[in-house]
Amino acid sequence: MPRFADILLPLALEEALTYGVPADLQLVVGQRVVVQLGKRKRYTGFVVRLHDEVPAEGVELKFVEEVVDATPLLREEQLRFWEWLSQYYMCTKGEVLKAALPSGLKLESEMRLTRSESPTQVEEMTPLQRQVFQLLDVEKPITLDDIASKLQRASIINTVRQMIERGWVEVREAMRESFRARTETYVKLPDAVVLEDKIDVLFDSLRKGGKPYALLLAYTDLARATTALRLRNPKLLAEVSRAQLLQRVEGGDAALRALIEKGYLESYAVEVGRLKTCAATETLGMRPLNDHQQRALGQIHASFEQHDITLLHGVTSSGKTEVYMKLIEEVLAQGKQVLYMLPEIALTTQITTRLGRVFGDKMGVYHSKFPDAERVELWQRQLTDKAFPLILGVRSSLFLPFQNLGLIIVDEEHESSYKQQDPAPRYHARDAALVLAQQLGAKVLLGTATPSLESYYKARQGRYGLVEMRERFGGVQLPEIIVEDVKELKRKKMMKTPFSPRLKDEIAGALERKEQAILFLNRRGYSPVLDCHKCGWTPKCSQCDVSLTYHQREQRLVCHYCGKSYDVPRTCPNCHEADFRDIGYGTEKIQAAIEAVFPNARTARMDLDTTRSRAAYEQIIRKFQQGETDILIGTQMLTKGLDFDRVSVVGIINADQLTNMPDFRAHERAFQMLSQVAGRAGRRGKQGKVVLQTRQVDHPLTNQVVTNDFFGMYAEQMQERQYFRYPPFYRVINIYLKHRDDRTVEAAAAYLASLLRPHFPTDLLGPERPLVARVQLQYIRKFVLKVAPNFLPASVRTTLRAAYNVMRNHPDFKGLTIYYDVDPL
Ligand code: ADP
Ligand code: ZN
Ligand code: ZN
Repeated sequence: MPRFADILLPLALEEALTYGVPADLQLVVGQRVVVQLGKRKRYTGFVVRLHDEVPAEGVELKFVEEVVDATPLLREEQLRFWEWLSQYYMCTKGEVLKAALPSGLKLESEMRLTRSESPTQVEEMTPLQRQVFQLLDVEKPITLDDIASKLQRASIINTVRQMIERGWVEVREAMRESFRARTETYVKLPDAVVLEDKIDVLFDSLRKGGKPYALLLAYTDLARATTALRLRNPKLLAEVSRAQLLQRVEGGDAALRALIEKGYLESYAVEVGRLKTCAATETLGMRPLNDHQQRALGQIHASFEQHDITLLHGVTSSGKTEVYMKLIEEVLAQGKQVLYMLPEIALTTQITTRLGRVFGDKMGVYHSKFPDAERVELWQRQLTDKAFPLILGVRSSLFLPFQNLGLIIVDEEHESSYKQQDPAPRYHARDAALVLAQQLGAKVLLGTATPSLESYYKARQGRYGLVEMRERFGGVQLPEIIVEDVKELKRKKMMKTPFSPRLKDEIAGALERKEQAILFLNRRGYSPVLDCHKCGWTPKCSQCDVSLTYHQREQRLVCHYCGKSYDVPRTCPNCHEADFRDIGYGTEKIQAAIEAVFPNARTARMDLDTTRSRAAYEQIIRKFQQGETDILIGTQMLTKGLDFDRVSVVGIINADQLTNMPDFRAHERAFQMLSQVAGRAGRRGKQGKVVLQTRQVDHPLTNQVVTNDFFGMYAEQMQERQYFRYPPFYRVINIYLKHRDDRTVEAAAAYLASLLRPHFPTDLLGPERPLVARVQLQYIRKFVLKVAPNFLPASVRTTLRAAYNVMRNHPDFKGLTIYYDVDPL
């Protein structure tokens, strides 16, 4: 056995630390162990290397204390991929490890734990575990450290780890506390009724037309019980919540209680986050592809002969998802694994259901908002021979162990939410997926209706394969886009509301035909600015350099940068008048305005404020899908590939707000967003209408969106990108400096400039104060480094890393935060 082990800890340490291996321990790479760091703290870390190189003298050598799991939790390939991530995105390996692992796999002495709420089998616990359990409380978390010292033990990590895995103990991260697991009541038919197909007996005993009868009827519909009963299989019942059922039968509370008392229905509690959407649906076969889809599939096969990466550019609703499903089926049949990546949580609900119907229990879903225990469970399962062959996940699923990955599908590859902004690693999941696939010998399919310029450029250069689908499925036409000139309408005094006359007409028509409408505005809250009518004073965040957004429902002013919220002042602190105006529109105000125009329409809003929990997301989407909502108002969340059947009108309230952003990607992004939101209109057999409101009818973007001219947009933007030296021609690295004191950050920026300027005489821009120059009490300076294609990235990184180390250790700049954002979005 080698004498030393390099242990990687989930901390922002530059490198793994070397520990001694006690003679009686057998270690392997990837295994989780307990080590001590500093005087008292203990962490679980991972063995990344075993060797006999004696560490430098003068450092006290500590020994690995315990082995946590019998077998490794990491595969060597994962370590290789993480190594690449930390190098390319210029962060530490520990930061990658921290981001990669679910909390339950990275125990440390400061981790806060609580007792789980669900009833627990105390008999099954060891005496020590029982002691631990008694120390814990449901509400008040205590740290591993506290537990260890209260029980007078050096380390308790292993004991607690087992308890976490059994679900007895929960890890409380700061973030998670605000998303406390809630339970919701569900009802179902007793198994016996289904097994013996006795539903008729129940119905016969109830009076037709009575509330209990109506409830049971509504239940069988919602639960899709017919199939379950016919096949006598309770597993096929869809889950039905009490709330959902009561929505169908008004005032059915008492009747439902009676049904449950009589044993006609059973009630049970489900933790909201744990809803298994796909477990209950029956596995159906795949639908046959149509000719266009068949051709695209053939072209993808051919393309994969030549290229490891292929871009599938297919208009909205061309049936790309079905093509993916066929490909998945083929790869699974070869005994290989598939990773299906989605940009965001909003999408997973619909896609989970669609894929779940076909792939059933072959599919695992990995999501950062899932309970930690579930993520740990999936991780461990992926290391066994029971590994899910298909994983559906958001960007963090790249970190999972894969045994034989054959294909990665990156759906909606243009989406900016694939990029992690904070904290490090600030990686782009699409780009990282390309590297992961290359390391594991897998193919990648990038799919979208509106490719990123980067991907499209590479496809046109022949570095990626390119497959196009130009027809919508079922011959549905792309929507008709009507441009409304808001400036002109205002002049003619025809914009009394935020909706043009044409938009109002179209919505009215849709409502009459029992169709639905979507209104898009990329700004949440009620109004972005509140000001004093008399003196013009506007409330600002005390921690950031931005004005506060007014949220009417909560009667609060909220900072959209740091989240801090404030009471609305009664009077102006400047002139003491009480006369505030709200200026401009957010989604909340749009909702109020449309309700004023159509008082009978049922509206809902989908933005960050209304979708704090996964359940809330799912409910908004479900209600809209089932036609319980007529008008859905939302931000860019709406643009992400949701598939609704009955939307015939889409209103874009203010297209200019997207193009006027000071960002070289603004035009590209506006095109993507507008085309995507327009694509929600008119599916299944009917052309939809899109009303696009703008003050800049002559802006080239308007015409590009109206004619769905992706190529025109591409060609025009590529000229600008080349001229102004932006990606994909140049690589951009942003450098950020943050400090509580404005003078310190100013001095630090000047000093950093003096270090870097000699290496990049023309390509380093800044330092500048960003548009929002202070966030959360930290003053910010920013550099933009454009790296020419002929600069070797490795040498650039070496230079930057050296500068970073100088800055970090400089005595004048204590408390300075400095980081790089590689390929920023
Ligand atoms: P995209 O992913 O390109 O936006 P989808 O895969 O969502 O397109 O397909 C659009 C619509 O057409 C969906 O409602 C889907 O159910 C339907 N559809 C696509 N392909 C088929 C098929 N082969 N058979 C039946 N319906 C299909
Ligand atoms: Zn005032
Ligand atoms: Zn703020």
